[in-house]
Amino acid sequence: MAYYVACWTEDDGVYARGHSHLVVRDAMNCLVRDGGSFIRAYDAGVFRSLTHRELIDFLEALQEMPLELAQ
Ligand SMILES: [Zn+2]
Repeated sequence: MAYYVACWTEDDGVYARGHSHLVVRDAMNCLVRDGGSFIRAYDAGVFRSLTHRELIDFLEALQEMPLELAQ
């Protein structure tokens, strides 16, 4: 079972928001508008990049996001 979190980078590393979501789409509501954040999966105790299937979910959800959020 994987969870999804909105993350962002600072000079000293990658940070994740303090809560996780069951689906990529829900985590996208936590993205920051400046474009500096992204989604990672938390799976079996470690953070990892999205799989190809999860990336497709991300891209499909991105199309449906309100324009003011997607900018
Ligand atoms: Zn969240």
